[in-house]
This record gives sequence, C-alpha cells and structure tokens, in this order.
Amino acid sequence: MAFHYALVGNPNSGKTTLFNELTGSSQHVGNWPGVTVEKKEGKLKGNKEIVIQDLPGIYSLSPYTLEEVVARDYLLSAEPDAIINIVDASNLERNLYLTTQLMELKKPMIVALNMMDIVAKNGDKISVEKLSKKLGVQVVEMSAVRGKGAKEMAEALKALAAKAKTTVTDVTFSDHVEKAVQDIAALTNLSRFESVKCFERDEKVLKQLSDNQKSQIETIVKACEEAEDDDAKSIITQERYGFVAKISDGVLTKNTSHQMTLSDKIDRVVTNRFLALPIFVAVMALVYYISISTIGGMMTDWVNDVLFGEIIPPAVEGFLTNAGVADWLSSLVLDGIIGGVGAVLGFLPQMLTLFILLAILEDCGYMARIAFILDRLFRKLGLSGKSFIPMMVGTGCGVPGIMASRTIENEKDRRMTVMLTTFIPCSAKLPIIALIAGALFDSAWWVGASAYFIGMGAIIVSGIILKKTKLFAGDPAPFVMELPIYHLPLPKNVLLQTYERGKAFVKKAGTIIFVSSIVIWFLQGFNWSFEMVDANDSILASIGNIFAPIFAPLGFGNWQSTVASVTGLVAKENVVSTMGILYGFEEVAEDGLEIWGNFASMFTSVSAYSFLVFNLLCAPCFAAIGAIRNEMASGRWTWIAIGYQCGFAYLVAFIVYQLGSVFVGDASFGIMTVLAIVVLAAGIYMLVRKNPYSEQR
Ligand code: GDP
Ligand code: MG
Repeated sequence: MAFHYALVGNPNSGKTTLFNELTGSSQHVGNWPGVTVEKKEGKLKGNKEIVIQDLPGIYSLSPYTLEEVVARDYLLSAEPDAIINIVDASNLERNLYLTTQLMELKKPMIVALNMMDIVAKNGDKISVEKLSKKLGVQVVEMSAVRGKGAKEMAEALKALAAKAKTTVTDVTFSDHVEKAVQDIAALTNLSRFESVKCFERDEKVLKQLSDNQKSQIETIVKACEEAEDDDAKSIITQERYGFVAKISDGVLTKNTSHQMTLSDKIDRVVTNRFLALPIFVAVMALVYYISISTIGGMMTDWVNDVLFGEIIPPAVEGFLTNAGVADWLSSLVLDGIIGGVGAVLGFLPQMLTLFILLAILEDCGYMARIAFILDRLFRKLGLSGKSFIPMMVGTGCGVPGIMASRTIENEKDRRMTVMLTTFIPCSAKLPIIALIAGALFDSAWWVGASAYFIGMGAIIVSGIILKKTKLFAGDPAPFVMELPIYHLPLPKNVLLQTYERGKAFVKKAGTIIFVSSIVIWFLQGFNWSFEMVDANDSILASIGNIFAPIFAPLGFGNWQSTVASVTGLVAKENVVSTMGILYGFEEVAEDGLEIWGNFASMFTSVSAYSFLVFNLLCAPCFAAIGAIRNEMASGRWTWIAIGYQCGFAYLVAFIVYQLGSVFVGDASFGIMTVLAIVVLAAGIYMLVRKNPYSEQR
C-alpha cells in the first residue's frame, strides 16, 4: 500500500521546488503566492510506494480562503499518512504558526527547514537539534532551490514511512485557555485540533455537534473571552504565538548587527514610492523592445523572409509540381497551410524571447515586487491588489490567469478580476502586436510596450469605473504577501518555463491554427456554389462584408479585418494566420517584396493601431471564454464579461482612430471627431466621478 505524505507550508516557502526535487516532476515554480491552487501528486524518486501531495500555500488551517479549504479538507481526510511541513527558516516564527496547527493533527510529521541559505546569509543561526527536540519531530535543514538536503529528506521520508508513528509534542496554551479547550474536548470527544476549532467557533466543526453541546461550548468560550477580555479567535492566535515563542527561544539566534542585505538595498530603490512605477514601466518597455524590435525581431525577420519566404515555399511548390498534384491541393498547402500556420510560426522567435525575459523577471523575484508595487497603487484606487496576480499569470496565457482569480475571497472583486484579466496581452496576442509593429511601424520600440500598457491601463481604468457601479462596489480585501529574496534566475526554471510555453504554442499551431487555416483557406477560395474564385467573391468575403460596416468607424471596415478579428475568437494567433492567407503571404515573398507589404497597404498607421487596440481588448479566445464561464459559474455573468470587453474595446479603438486620424492629419475635424470627444469625455467622467456607493460599507 502506498504511503501518502501531504506537503504543507506557507505560500512561497518553497513547496513546489521541494516537490519537484523529491519527485523529479516539473511543476511550475511561481515566485508569488497563490500559484498552486490545486493539489498535485507525485511519487518519491526511487520509491514508488511513497506518494507526495503538493498542497496550496496557506498561513493557517481556518477555512477562509480557497487555498485553506483545499489544504484543510485534504489534511482532515483519511488519506495522508504523514505530513511534511515545509518551513521558511528565514521567517521562522511566522512559519511555525502553521506548524502549531499541524502538530495538533497528531499525525507523523517531518519538518523541512528550507531557505537555510538565506538564514546563513543573514548571519542568523538556528539550532536544528534543539528545534527537533522541542517539536518532537525530525527536522531536516535544506535549501531546496540548490538541491541541498533533498537526499537527507528522501531518507527521512522513507524512515518515517517505515514506522509511521507520531511523536509530535503536545501544543499547550496558557492556563485559562488550556482548560477551556480541554473541557470542550471532554464534552465532545473531539480531537485536540477540532476542540480548538470549536473554541474558535469554526462552523465546519460545530456543524457535527448537537445543539446542547453547542450551547455548552458557547458558555465555556464566553467565560474565557470575558476572563481574557478578547475574542476567541484572537485568544487562540495569541496562544499560538506564545507557544511559538517558547519553541524558538534558544533555537533561533538573530544576527544583531542589522546589516542591510543586498536584497533590502535593491528593494529600497525598486519599491521606492516615487521610483517604483517609472522603473516598472522602463523594465516592461525594455522587455517588449528586446523581444519585438531587437533580438526576437531579427530572428523573426529571418524566419519570415528566408525560411517561410525563400526556402520552404519554393521547395514545397517544386515538390508539389513534380508530384503533379491538382491546383487546388497545391493552393491549400501553399496559401492555406504554409500561408496561415507559417505566418504564425514566424513569430515564434519573438515569443520565445518574451517568454525567457518574463521567466527571468519572475524567477529572480522582480515580478513579486511588481505585484507589491501595484497592490499599493491598486488599493489607492479602491481595487484589490490580489487582482494583479491573475493578470501576471495572464501574460503567458489567459486561461490559467483567469483560474488564478480563485484566490480572491471577495466575490465581487473576483468576478471583476475574471472579467478584466484578459486585457493583459497574452502570448497569443504577441504575433498581432509584432505584425502591426513590423508591417506598419518599422518595428518601433514603443509599439510592443504600448500594447502592454494599454492592457494594464484598460484594467486600471475599467477597475475604477466598475468599482463605482452597483455590480462591483465595495471595499477591496487586504492582501498580504511576503517578498521573496532576490536571487539570480536559475537557468533550469527559466528554460523549463520557456520550453513549456513554447511547446504549448507550437502544439496550438499544429492543431487549432492548422485546422482554422484550412477552413479559412476554403472559405476565401470558394463561392457559395463551391467554385474556386477570387477571394473578393468568396464565401468569406460575402459574410465579412455584412459585418464590416460595424468596424468602419474604427478605421478597418474591410471584410478581411472583420474576418480576422472573428477568427481570433478561436485562437488569437488566427488573426495573423488569417491575414497571412488573405494577403498572399507566400506569393508576395516570391516577388521579393516586403513580406507583409500587401497587408500594410490596407491600413494607415492610425487604423492599424486601432485594429491592434481592438484585437487586444475585445473578447478573448474560446478557451479563455470557457474559463470565464467556469469561474463565473453563470451564463449571465459570462455575457456581461464578454459584452463589457467588446464594448470597451470598440470605444477605445473608436477614440484612437477618430482622434488619431485628425491628429496626424489623415482626416479633418467632423461629426465623428465630435462623437469621439463625447465618448472620451463620458469615460473621463465615469472615471473621476464620486463613488455613489462609497457610503454603503
Ligand atoms: P511555493 O509557493 O511554496 O510552492 O514555493 P516555490 O517552490 O514556488 O518557491 C518560491 C520561491 O522561492 C522560488 O523563487 C524559489 O526559487 C525560491 N526558493 C525555494 N527554495 C529556496 C531555498 O532553499 N533558498 C532560496 N534562496 N530560495 C528558494
Ligand atoms: Mg507552489
């Protein structure tokens, strides 16, 4: 029979790192809290009988947050035979708070004392032996990120699994409280853990008791509350910290010379009240500049111009001609598949560059600072800082981003986050950004960066506007997070994450985008009587032309752009693959013309930018819409979200195009300009008006 360990610890204590180290799997190591919402299972390397369950990070076992519910339900179920409690040694007392609760479960337990490298760097000392004696469990010191202590841990796990006996020290409180808890235990026959929970009036535990028992407990608790002059929950919290203090006394010797660590020094600048935002803007602008305009851009030019321009199409064409295949088949392969899928794959180098840079920022600890900095900003604006984590996850893909919103307790804030997360340009939108930047703006550095900040701006502006409506009004929940210490990014983490994302993208190109390209190729090549015709007479054109006028006020009222935007609902990359098919990606290349020249001639710079803005902000792809549906658990809310996204995208693109055209001199001032100014003014009013619900707290 397999032996089950539950891996429990505070957020960011290194659970996933240790889990990967012990099981040899490659779960995502997130450098901010809330990444592991679901539990993940793995087998100990070299011993298939030992199963380890990575649980979400928690600070306590009270079921307030989803993470706590998941972790607690699992721990209280019969399944885990023992507990691995991972403790961030550089934050010993805070982490032992959870340990005291785990000890009450009276299961066999091992403490993984992680982050010992940081303790050493700070000049603090921890006596592992004394700590082990006081807790009554084996303590293994380690530095999971460097793989130190993992072997000892594996040995300890095997040894404990062989005897599976608990030796943990009893957690005791001061006289009054201890007596009250013991009275409850005697009265109910519940375990120590549950008795303490009864004292805290934990509904889940009280539910199983009779009314009579409940009222007796209430009497005991009330008496204790009066004696201690505090509420039950605070009493227990204090008792726990009291117990923790007793344990850490003589175990932890702090370095009293109080030197500022390098990490503190960096943070002094990076999270500085005035410098933080400019630095953040500069960093993200640089990231997009490098990936779209420089390194990534150069490689993409090669892939587009040479690989998918001069090498592959002529070779394939030659092959197809030699094989004597029908014209339609050769067109399907060249115009449809190579034109569509090739167009998207052409942007892979830029995407990989972006992935690497984002992974580096995350792994070294800077992303967590961004969350921290934006939390400060968001809260000033009345938004929840926790909303920002889903958005950062969303820079990779909107689907996990939307799912990460589960960690937000406040229902209104959670819904709003689900609704706004996909405004951040996900990696699938990168080809659109890169296409517009390359074809119309000569890869100007600001195009990519502006796309990111338009997404961010859309979230902030929408957040402020929505918070002033009845649907979302209310106070944001506070958000605690610990900032991890900076460290040099680990090549393994960075490459792994880049590889995973790159793989997902290539897979998508080979499946969804491949099939979509075939469908688009067919629809643009045939008319309703299934005869091969010019694209302008095709099925696709006839459908696109019906809806194109809707987009005329945004500057791109042609059927091609309309169709491309709609195919973007299947996968955002399709915007590019559709354009690749429609604008003869392959033929143009043979003439030696600029590869996207035909495409560029359809737009002015302003209308192209408006097209970009619309496609960045409008409803996400079906996969993300499905995730929204799941998290909202309501058809109505899903429609509200999609409606809001599309409406917002439309209005912003309208303002950009109308005002932009007048500004650069493409158009003269007219009725549409006035309309755009009115829309802009209305938006500003919604933004700055007094919150009509701010009194209703
Ligand atoms: P989780 O949230 O508990 O799953 O923590 P993760 O495993 O995702 O790790 C959080 C961060 O701490 C990552 O950036 C890790 O690289 C880092 N980390 C993990 N273990 C150690 C360690 O022993 N020392 C140091 N310095 N960093 C660590
Ligand atoms: Mg984790």
